[in-house]
Amino acid sequence: MNVARGMLEAPFRLAGTVQHYEWGDQRLLPDFLGQQPDGRPWAEWWVGAHPQAPSPVLTAPGTRLDQLIRRDPLAVLGGPVCDQFGARLPFLLKVLAVARPLSLQVHPTDEQASAGFHFERQGLESAPAEPLYADEWAKPEMLLAVTQFEAFAGLVTPEQAWDRLAPCAGPTLSALMARHLDEPTPSGLARLVNDLLRLDEDVVRLAVAELSDGMRAQLATEPDETGRRTTIARLAAEFPADPAVAVVALMRHVVLAPGDALAVPAGLLHCYTRGLAVEIQGTSNNTLRAGLTTKRVDVEEVLRIVDPNASPRHVTPTQPNVGLRRYVPGLPAFALDAVDLVPSTRVPVPPGLPAVVVTMRGTVDLDAGGTSTQLRRGEAAFVPASVCASVLLSGEGQAVVGYPGLAPLG
Ligand SMILES: [Zn+2]
Repeated sequence: MNVARGMLEAPFRLAGTVQHYEWGDQRLLPDFLGQQPDGRPWAEWWVGAHPQAPSPVLTAPGTRLDQLIRRDPLAVLGGPVCDQFGARLPFLLKVLAVARPLSLQVHPTDEQASAGFHFERQGLESAPAEPLYADEWAKPEMLLAVTQFEAFAGLVTPEQAWDRLAPCAGPTLSALMARHLDEPTPSGLARLVNDLLRLDEDVVRLAVAELSDGMRAQLATEPDETGRRTTIARLAAEFPADPAVAVVALMRHVVLAPGDALAVPAGLLHCYTRGLAVEIQGTSNNTLRAGLTTKRVDVEEVLRIVDPNASPRHVTPTQPNVGLRRYVPGLPAFALDAVDLVPSTRVPVPPGLPAVVVTMRGTVDLDAGGTSTQLRRGEAAFVPASVCASVLLSGEGQAVVGYPGLAPLG
């Protein structure tokens, strides 16, 4: 690899990596990327330096972003990022296209991830075949809805749990609810979730079938304005032996409109069920799953990591420039700008930080000093921290810009 130092003085183009997970939509991502659908699910498109799919640098064939970072971390990432995170890009930017539910999942804190990672590898010469902990890092995430996006995140209040489930639970779930929610308390609700996830398969089948019947009876007589019950009935049909269906019925239903953003902290139980979104997250793949998946499920580890009091947070953007919505979740790992461009606007990229730019719609130009990089929809570029000139976005369309949430920004 021979990368000229001058390369780090201007933005350069990156390729993303598609992940064909089973829950992906067959058309949304191919359409976004300008490619032909091939009958497979296209779930996620990653842009960043995660070891599982580091982005190739298109302007230097044979070179990947992680290699550039290792070669010159200070120039690529800048001093403040190296001080806080070492020689690693702290965030990963994705576009998610959800046609079927992702697993019911939770992510660990840095401390839990590091402990779990080292515990699983104690005494082993090579990595375990299917580890629970892929790396040593937390995986906080923030979603920015591109289309309407549906999720379940965090538990409802004990009173809501009773109100929602009692009319449709059926005898099996009702008996469990009576045991734990007789007096609705947060600890009773947490015990109910624990019991549900540990039920025998025969009991689960019965409980989910009864719940599904109850939901369908309700749907026949009452409107389902938010779509919550329709989605739970769909989950019950798809996962008839999965206790996670009953847990989802106890969770907050979140419907994001395009432009709405949701932050998911460590310990928050969540499940995304439908839509197209940009996701910016910590550079980690540590996901602990409780169900609704064919991937590895570990209920005991989920119950150990989950924080029943954690809640999702809607992130309201600030508008420091015309055409710019800035989403700052208050985490050092990432922040996200959404930039709407008309021909007369020019919007700066935050200076002195490494940034990933992705064009979501139309065509966007990145101008830095004398250089210009044009990105069409579904194309990405990286801005090294060492770029001295101010980087300005112009054109006609929409871009998102991901960068570390370290510096105080206006
Ligand atoms: Zn997640």
